[in-house]
Amino acid sequence: MRIAEVYSSIQGEGQFAGTPSVFVRTTGCNLRCWFCDTPFTSWKPEGPHISVANLVQQVGAFGVEHVVLTGGEPLLQPDSVPLCEQLLAAGHFVTIETAGTVFRPASANLLSISPKLANSSPSRVGSAAAVRWHTRHEQSRSQPDVVARLIATTEFQFKFVVDAPSDMVEITAYLAAWPEVSGDRIWLMPQARTREELQTNSDWIEAEALRRGYRFSSRWQIAQFGNQRGK
Ligand code: SF4
Repeated sequence: MRIAEVYSSIQGEGQFAGTPSVFVRTTGCNLRCWFCDTPFTSWKPEGPHISVANLVQQVGAFGVEHVVLTGGEPLLQPDSVPLCEQLLAAGHFVTIETAGTVFRPASANLLSISPKLANSSPSRVGSAAAVRWHTRHEQSRSQPDVVARLIATTEFQFKFVVDAPSDMVEITAYLAAWPEVSGDRIWLMPQARTREELQTNSDWIEAEALRRGYRFSSRWQIAQFGNQRGK
């Protein structure tokens, strides 16, 4: 698999925020969110190919139960399936963080699905490549059929990146397709790549989450480290 980094830290988002975790960050993404906080996995993907056996060994060496397979988009990589199988067999609790645009039958204890809203679209201005990526992003970012397949058999949470009050209209429309999903599986998280953005956006988004019976997720890693790589 092509891997950007493997490191140990604390899960900063969603229902396992605060949990010591090893992060296996794949590189490569089919989307190009303008606010991507890991551009080294999307806009400029980097990292070597590492075998599944090697990754399982690296993860095991940390001696940490929780493992987060993240990206980039980890489900683009076929080896996500055997990697998750082997991590589960080794007794790890596995979370897969995905945008929910690619189906892959990878087993996990939790799918953390972050459907990308219109607020994520990259600018189409500047070059032919910008137009191409804008178009591709818009065509790819919302795949409810894929999400339906992913959540049919696996525990999940939805994690929406919220940037402006108008995003709530889109989130409400998106969730109308999933009336059976209870509020405790729905997390609102500020769009933030800096401590300042996190501070500015947190209060009103937390109030929205409480008002709607959803959950609010901060971004511990941003608050703590200001989006430093490997933290
Ligand atoms: S889906 Fe995630 S990794 Fe891909 S561009 Fe968007 S924020 Fe970055």
